[in-house]
Amino acid sequence: MSEFNTVAIEDQYSSGVTAHHPITIARGSGPYLWDDQGNRYIDCVAGYGTANVGHCHPKVTAAIQKQAAELVVCPGCQYNETRARLLEKLVELAPGDIDRVYLGNSGTESVEAALKFARLSTGRQGIIATKRAFHGRSMGSLSATWEAKYRDPYLPLVPGFSHVTYNDIEAMDAAITDETAGVILEIVQGEGGIYLGDGDYLRAVQQMCRDRGAMFIVDEVQTGCGRTGRFFASEHYDLEPDMICLAKSLAGGVPIGATLVGPRVENLSPSVHGTTFGGNPLAAAAALAAIEVIEEEHLAERAEKLGVMAVARLQQIESPLIREVRGLGLMVGVDLRVRPGKFVNALLDEGVMALTAGHTVLRLLPTLVIGEDDLMTACDAVERVLMAEE
Ligand code: PMP
Repeated sequence: MSEFNTVAIEDQYSSGVTAHHPITIARGSGPYLWDDQGNRYIDCVAGYGTANVGHCHPKVTAAIQKQAAELVVCPGCQYNETRARLLEKLVELAPGDIDRVYLGNSGTESVEAALKFARLSTGRQGIIATKRAFHGRSMGSLSATWEAKYRDPYLPLVPGFSHVTYNDIEAMDAAITDETAGVILEIVQGEGGIYLGDGDYLRAVQQMCRDRGAMFIVDEVQTGCGRTGRFFASEHYDLEPDMICLAKSLAGGVPIGATLVGPRVENLSPSVHGTTFGGNPLAAAAALAAIEVIEEEHLAERAEKLGVMAVARLQQIESPLIREVRGLGLMVGVDLRVRPGKFVNALLDEGVMALTAGHTVLRLLPTLVIGEDDLMTACDAVERVLMAEE
């Protein structure tokens, strides 16, 4: 055994801004992770939702290896076939009349670009976001994020942002004015606690944006890439957003962000925005492979079917600790009457990795390649840890 003490060294030298689960991960394959002691876990964290195609999918691994041997970096000022193929694929997949893509490196960047494009396109300043929203932590995207603990240390944030109650049509109606550059929202609020958007609400917001000249921006960083049962969660409600933000699982775990843009977004001319790494061939090759896997293995359909099963199973748990079970596809939350953190640790002992969301939600965000048995095993483990608590 090596003498190297990963935990001690990470604790000493990492910045300190991240709390750790008490576990050191050595490798992953498909729906599983293994710790450095050789213990196997059913992964319902999926790298915060970046591992929809499973860990180290052979197709994604092969695409990364091939591209790494050919060309890793290629700045935006030079053309590249792999990037071109990804741009074409994303436009082909996207709902509505999306016709261009800005490639970045993270969810935050995909949101940041959308916010800037909304202002650039409309010449207006106002951005409306929703309460409980999470859109990232850069100063712009953080201005759209709701949670005070993320925002307060950094005030003042970017002016012009406001937040309205999610799923409240009247509140949105009152908020969108001729000063509004854009509205940004999630189809399912993820970090905020797995709250599902209402179809009528989402369509009404889109229509109000159209009528009043504001950009309708859908943040699909967490809901995208098959997670909710469609490649884009927007498809559940026939939405045709002006901009869609993608990241997380888009490149099978390799960092990437994409802001998909439709024809109402104007003024995107050279130098109004940019990035060094965005559109690099390595991430593009990984993304092309990951998208192919999502399509070939029908992972969105799997997510839809398995999500229904997981919610039904979790709803059977007769625990007074549970307030509600919610989910769309494999984005599943168990809303508790208590803080969920200790159950995440208890689940580790059961061989299941889970997450929290909001203040009270135990969140399951498995890979979309998880087997039915493993998913039921994870749900059984949730039942055991909740029952052990009473
Ligand atoms: N938007 C949403 C909806 C997210 O869930 C997240 C990350 N949890 C982000 C944006 C930010 O993405 P990233 O961490 O890749 O910057």
